[in-house]
Amino acid sequence: MPSLKANLLVVDDEAPVRMCLLGILVESGYAVRTASDGFSALAAIRQRIPDLILSDLNMPGMSGFELLSVVRRRFPSIRVVAMSSGFRGLDLPRGVAADAFYEKATHPSSLLRMLEDISRPGQSPLLHRPRSSAPIWIPTNGHNARGDSFITISCPECLRAFPQLLDQSAPTTLETTCAWCHSPINYAIVQSALAA
Ligand SMILES: [Zn+2]
Repeated sequence: MPSLKANLLVVDDEAPVRMCLLGILVESGYAVRTASDGFSALAAIRQRIPDLILSDLNMPGMSGFELLSVVRRRFPSIRVVAMSSGFRGLDLPRGVAADAFYEKATHPSSLLRMLEDISRPGQSPLLHRPRSSAPIWIPTNGHNARGDSFITISCPECLRAFPQLLDQSAPTTLETTCAWCHSPINYAIVQSALAA
């Protein structure tokens, strides 16, 4: 049993897997939230930063591979367990930014031990990096089929890009929301490109 009720986020696209893990983990004393894909996981993380994340690797939309690399970069204090049925044994698949690996549907006891090991106090000093308030600078892309100016914004949170129409009368520094993960983004237009 974990001595402190660690806050845990379970990410899996299959509802029966989420429910099953939720049951096991709540019974073991964890405070558990669930998310069905990488984007909703990032939204849940922004609401409240969890101590631990248990994430599937193969999910539609944003895979666990992408999610965990974003988490490692943006929230280095969160301890992470990757899980999959596509890999055997206890070894972490190459390229996965996680602290441990759980082979799905094998011994829940080994999962619980793993979570306890990586969440020991002292193991994870909760150093939450403050959000950068500096805007990202974006050049214009030209015009779309209807002749409207637009820019392509790359979300610093989930790293996906999306187009945004340009309002020529708007102030220099603007705010928008990521089309994918709904993070607030500060951005500014590169002036030289506007004149061109
Ligand atoms: Zn985003």
